[in-house]
Amino acid sequence: MRNMDNNADHTNWITCYVGLGSNLANELGSPTEHLEQALAMMRAHEQIREISVSSFYASAPMGPQDQPDFVNAVAGFETTLTPYELLAFCQQLESMAKRARLRYWGERSLDVDILLYGEAQMVEPQLTIPHAGLGERNFVLIPLRELAPSLAIAGKSIDDYSQSLDWTGLRLLSGD
Ligand code: ADP
Ligand code: MG
Repeated sequence: MRNMDNNADHTNWITCYVGLGSNLANELGSPTEHLEQALAMMRAHEQIREISVSSFYASAPMGPQDQPDFVNAVAGFETTLTPYELLAFCQQLESMAKRARLRYWGERSLDVDILLYGEAQMVEPQLTIPHAGLGERNFVLIPLRELAPSLAIAGKSIDDYSQSLDWTGLRLLSGD
């Protein structure tokens, strides 16, 4: 029978990477559990497939230092979601973790950022791809390199960002 669901008509699976971070426990779980719950939602999404997840890392916070270390990881997958649909899904995951923003660059129960969306490059008020901080953040680049060591980011290889690939403030927590 013909499937009339529009979503099923997409056939173009785009390889994407998202960065996950949490440094605030709440009634829904610890930082690690917030990441695990977000990953479970990705695995359950019918427009997301072939998910791979980096190790979990602990990283010193950017901004105010009197907050707990973050737990960070990167997930790679293929999706038929458009960039803005994927952004909406990331924001849905954040609200599911009851994200409350206490202060700028402060603690949060879940942050999910789009790092890369295929070869897309865009700078728009609500969405910058590749993610604006990607090239400077070791807690993003190191897990990303773990998943995709030969990835090209805006024409550069990950190893070209070597100045951001040191382990300052970063600690391996676990393999996934
Ligand atoms: P941050 O991640 O910088 O700490 P937020 O998670 O609060 O801050 O995101 C602020 C805004 O950044 C979002 O409302 C979103 O529109 C915008 N944004 C721009 N580019 C991206 C991206 N690549 N991934 C996720 N959000 C992005
Ligand atoms: Mg964010």
